[in-house]
Amino acid sequence: MVFLGSGNMNSEGHLEIGDVDTVDLAKEFGTPLYVYDVAKIREQATAYLSTFKKRNVTAKVAYASKAFSCIAMVQLMQQEGLHLDVVSGGELFTALQAGFPATHIHFHGNNKSIEELTAAVEEGVGSIVVDNFYELDCLKSIGESLNRVIPIQLRITPGIEAHTHEYILTGQEDSKFGFDLISKQADQALHEALSSSYIDMMGIHCHIGSQIFESDGFVMAIRKIFDLLEDWSESFGYEARVVNLGGGFGIAYTTNDKKISIEEMMNVVVDEVQDQVAEKSLAMPEIWIEPGRSIVGEAGTTLYTVGSEKRIPGVRNYLAVDGGMTDNLRPALYQAKYEAVIANRLSQKNTQTVSIAGKCCESGDMLIQEVSLPKTSQGDILAMFCTGAYGYSMANNYNRLPRPAVVFVEEGEAQLVVERETYRDLVHLDRPLKKTVVTSF
Ligand SMILES: *Cc1c(COP(=O)(O)O)cnc(C)c1O
Repeated sequence: MVFLGSGNMNSEGHLEIGDVDTVDLAKEFGTPLYVYDVAKIREQATAYLSTFKKRNVTAKVAYASKAFSCIAMVQLMQQEGLHLDVVSGGELFTALQAGFPATHIHFHGNNKSIEELTAAVEEGVGSIVVDNFYELDCLKSIGESLNRVIPIQLRITPGIEAHTHEYILTGQEDSKFGFDLISKQADQALHEALSSSYIDMMGIHCHIGSQIFESDGFVMAIRKIFDLLEDWSESFGYEARVVNLGGGFGIAYTTNDKKISIEEMMNVVVDEVQDQVAEKSLAMPEIWIEPGRSIVGEAGTTLYTVGSEKRIPGVRNYLAVDGGMTDNLRPALYQAKYEAVIANRLSQKNTQTVSIAGKCCESGDMLIQEVSLPKTSQGDILAMFCTGAYGYSMANNYNRLPRPAVVFVEEGEAQLVVERETYRDLVHLDRPLKKTVVTSF
């Protein structure tokens, strides 16, 4: 039996990931628990890199660390030869703490603070993806005061929105990110970047969306970018060294979702870039991409312990677990769908349809609307697949629930990479009220 995300059934009828029995993991580390199949992460990273290598094009694959960031994850990406995207001072700090080379870090965000930008420049990050005129101005003065030339890419909004299966060409791009093409903001930004001796204008960036299954959107974006580059070559004599196409490559959360082939998708991207370069007689730029979800999503599985049950005859059967919207916000945030199994009952037949409820004080805290499971009892381990991206990274302490631990498994070994929060951690930053007033009734 092979599962959607990661894992298979072992001889005891248990779910096993990376040759480790998940029932043992739940016992050893407690639940809820995020389990990552390290081999799967490595496989995804290699799929991107090897495709570009086979095509003999210069490319960089940057892992978008907002999908899941912790020191061990950043170190894993370094082992695999990926670059790293960060979107905040906190993600940058994590990367540097992990020993990730600053020159291989790219800094994103639509409202980077002056402190964040200064730190990034001082640390020597490889590139800052500039989102707006305010940021461009800040960088020019930071460059001047530190006497540093800052490598940047300009983020543009190509007027293409990926709606997972369809693409919408919007006339007037309504987005909080990047420089608009139609109103010529992008041209103005290029002009300003080229006019400063403290700015090194590496190239163009765009990111058209997330959880995308078709290559059409990327092809459309590439055409828009090269139309712009042709224009910039004629009007400004500018040639881009880098064309960065962002991330957004989709993963299968449920058996109804399509599986994408990374190799096919990247081949389409390379073909289109090469066609555009030839058609417009431009120099071949480096192709950069920034996958997040597709690197870690399917590698992650969350283990929960089954607790209370509520059966409403003819309506619904609720099965509650010891986590919820605190460790996986996606179902509550955007009705994300997941599949699950009972890790200790894989060989048993499914006999009931249940709804998996979280333990938070919100009716909307439902992890799965409907899933078929065998007969369950308290203490069973529910394994929810494909929770590796935007799970731990969006985890929170609502209801003062401690955030779960994270375990990496590979070749029969488990390693704790993020400890479980304790109650003590929850009050760690709290300070008692200063004034002591005794009220008597
Ligand atoms: C979120 C984001 C990514 C990663 O997106 P995924 O869907 O996780 O692949 C890449 N680049 C930028 C600029 C992003 O905002």
